[in-house]
Amino acid sequence: MKIPFLDLKRQYDAIKSEVDLAIQEVLDTCSFVLGKQVSNFETAFSLAHSVKHSVGLSSGTDANHLSLWTLDVGPGDEIILPANTFAATAWAATLCGARPIFVDSHEQSYNLDPVKVEAAVTLKTKAIVAVHLYGQPADLDPLAEIAASHNSYLVEDAAQAHLAEYKGRKVGGIGIAAAFSFYPGKNLGAYGEAGALTTNDDSIAENARMFRDQGQSRKYYHDSYGHNYRMEAIQGAVLSVKLKYLPQWTERRRAVAAKYREMLQDVDQIVLPKEMPYAKHVYHLFVIRAQQRDDLRVFLEQKEVDTGLHYPIPLHLQKAFQHLGYKRGDFPVAEKLADDILSLPIYPELTTQQIEYVCDCIREFYHR
Ligand SMILES: *Cc1c(COP(=O)(O)O)cnc(C)c1O
Repeated sequence: MKIPFLDLKRQYDAIKSEVDLAIQEVLDTCSFVLGKQVSNFETAFSLAHSVKHSVGLSSGTDANHLSLWTLDVGPGDEIILPANTFAATAWAATLCGARPIFVDSHEQSYNLDPVKVEAAVTLKTKAIVAVHLYGQPADLDPLAEIAASHNSYLVEDAAQAHLAEYKGRKVGGIGIAAAFSFYPGKNLGAYGEAGALTTNDDSIAENARMFRDQGQSRKYYHDSYGHNYRMEAIQGAVLSVKLKYLPQWTERRRAVAAKYREMLQDVDQIVLPKEMPYAKHVYHLFVIRAQQRDDLRVFLEQKEVDTGLHYPIPLHLQKAFQHLGYKRGDFPVAEKLADDILSLPIYPELTTQQIEYVCDCIREFYHR
């Protein structure tokens, strides 16, 4: 049975008529950038995350960048972020001219470990970027406390965590600003590139809106330097349609995760992801830790089960960050994770039969 890692086609087929209509409307008006479709989506996205402002952007990477740029992050500043994350989290610091400071993961949540963050804070720390990795919110209360007591900001990278909750509150409005990605494979995916910055702070929202549109406060009045980080109308239209389904898709992801747990709980050679007591996990990824990970991955490949590695190389060991002077051994948890994590297929459309097949293959591998 072929199990792809992602199946966007099945989702499109289910909502095709609505999506096609929404795209047709954009084509009929020939207004392709920002406009009504994007502002309608921004309003709906804000409501869904109980946050005051959403600013539609052209990618999650832009959102990461603006979440720091709007805080005046610049040369001389240090930005704390996890060693185990997608590189875009770190580019935000780099693009602002600041220095990324990596911190090791918590053993159970795989997110930033507040104890290790406390040890990494200096007088230069301008922000702590909490990534809600795999769809599980980081432990934000202790991180906010550390940020507040060191005169710095708590920022969220929520690219993998649409509708996730921390102690009953939606992510996106807990830190001073948050970055979301709508890359097609994310829990809420556009039909192209898109992202958003969310915040409860009026001036951050205003500055992000200005920056995304060439630093203009109005046409040809450039109040600051900026960039073209605008969201396209077609993406706003598609995202508005898909946002309505996101709560039910999220529950379906959680059900898939529950099924994996039930079927894999007695396999001694793997560690299942832990849902922390403070978190509502939205399972962008279902990441297990597996003995003989590489052999298991090849075995699953032969059984036509696609898997992923998130991420195979922690940021401190990437060539792009060599100049920062980190070395192997600096972040033992992140390094160990890179060696034994394995992402299993997870999406709302995955059937019970498919989940059972994946689990049967894993059992077969360890019981040969
Ligand atoms: C996907 C992702 C991003 C970047 O989003 P893009 O829309 O691909 O630019 C940033 N951070 C994390 C944690 C991500 O998973």
